Amino acid sequence: MPRRCTVCDHPKRHSIGETLVSGAPYRSVAKRFGLSESAVYRHKVEHLSTHLLKAKEVEETTRADDLLEQVKDLQVHALDILERAEKTGDLRTALAAISQARGNLELLGKLAGELDERPIVNLNVSPEWLELRAVIVGALEPHPAAHRAILRALESVGNG
Ligand SMILES: [Zn+2]
Repeated sequence: MPRRCTVCDHPKRHSIGETLVSGAPYRSVAKRFGLSESAVYRHKVEHLSTHLLKAKEVEETTRADDLLEQVKDLQVHALDILERAEKTGDLRTALAAISQARGNLELLGKLAGELDERPIVNLNVSPEWLELRAVIVGALEPHPAAHRAILRALESVGNG
């Protein structure tokens, strides 16, 4: 059994980590949180950077996923508006919705570029992206003009 780290086990380990990162000397940190100096020192040297890297990774993934969700949400609304506008023959609104859907795809493309730089997720092969792509293209099949525009936009995203 490896020796437990009293700082890692501490209920306030996040505050301790933040305090250490802010540059507070480990002696005063140990005093403040009722820990031994050697434990805080060892934790700072051996564990802290790992925790921080993990936290940063999670934060970035969350941010990208969040953006993706929001764009997907926008896209659902745009397609919904397009459908309703076409039913009522409101071509002006339909055109605006098509242009909005196109913009969403460009946004997704940019997001894909951002995600590509991360080793874990490649949006071009991620099942979520392929599914979304199929849903978008499928939803536009009854609207030939929009369908063609979307396919062109997707091509340009793929080439970019
Ligand atoms: Zn630790």
